Amino acid sequence: MEQELEMPKMKRVQCVEDLPGIGPATLEKLQNAGFSDLMSIAVATPGELVGVADISEATAKKVICIARANMELKFESGEDLLQRRMSAIRITSGSTEFDKLLGGGFETGSITETYGQFGSGKSQIAHLIAVRAQLPLDQGGADGSIIFIDSEGTFRPERIVQMCVPLKLDSSEVLKRIKIARAFTSDHQMLLAERIEELIKQGDNVKVVIVDSLTSHFRAEFVGRGTLADRQQKINKHMHTLMRLADKHNVLIYVTNQVMSKPDMFFGDPTAAIGGNIVGHNSTYRIYLRKGKKGSRVAKMVDAPDLPENEASFMVTEGGIVDV
Ligand code: ADP
Ligand code: MG
Repeated sequence: MEQELEMPKMKRVQCVEDLPGIGPATLEKLQNAGFSDLMSIAVATPGELVGVADISEATAKKVICIARANMELKFESGEDLLQRRMSAIRITSGSTEFDKLLGGGFETGSITETYGQFGSGKSQIAHLIAVRAQLPLDQGGADGSIIFIDSEGTFRPERIVQMCVPLKLDSSEVLKRIKIARAFTSDHQMLLAERIEELIKQGDNVKVVIVDSLTSHFRAEFVGRGTLADRQQKINKHMHTLMRLADKHNVLIYVTNQVMSKPDMFFGDPTAAIGGNIVGHNSTYRIYLRKGKKGSRVAKMVDAPDLPENEASFMVTEGGIVDV
């Protein structure tokens, strides 16, 4: 008679705590350094873990190996992907020109980045999305709630109240559905982003996550400290957290980015976005904002997987944004 071989059953590793050799003290060090989920361990290098958690290289290699083995890596068919793309919701802006540039509106399930100089309208658009995403689907909204990570202290509830007026929305209800967190450092900002999934799992119908601005803390903190590569690596990690939210929970991620002057550049627009390629490659839609004629704003679609490079003009008004 054949005997069935019983394979020894290993407990499925689901979180960092489950990894062998990771005690509470190590766990805390890992979490403080942003290694709070299995994916971040799976993609880490042994050297990184040794550096932040005071563990031996052998342990680091082992936990990375186990984290990798326990990651669910799945491929999906093109048809499934199309189905998922069809569940994307377009959140309209109030300006037909701008909506046209966006291919119908800001899209859930993806990251939209605006970059531009001070006063170019990045934060105004953030407030606008926070209001308009609350409209019902048939009115160009996503009928959802909003997480607003404010790293510059520029969120103004008064602007939300003003923007509710033309839409005839009850502003106190709208404000209730916006959860604002002030981020004081880049680490704090990263941690806040990592907590969002918990809120969603608790049943909060989050449809938009705003990070205004994405890069200012990173820019300020990494001046003269560490290397640019460190900074880029952290921004990259932060963007991956956001991308996962977009992908997994059909959330619109809206991030703003500053520009740095490049005085040595004589031709073209002498500005470039902070975080450069790292931010750009992780954003689905990249929009450059600048001031136009007579107080207008000009938005240029710089990078989009399915849209042409184009420009749109609009005006920022008390009630939101409108066509010129
Ligand atoms: P940034 O790109 O630096 O985030 P903002 O989005 O805060 O810039 O844009 C600020 C600009 O928005 C102001 O300079 C002004 O032109 C415009 N703005 C702000 N509030 C109002 C308002 N209530 N009515 C009309 N325009 C406004
Ligand atoms: Mg701003």
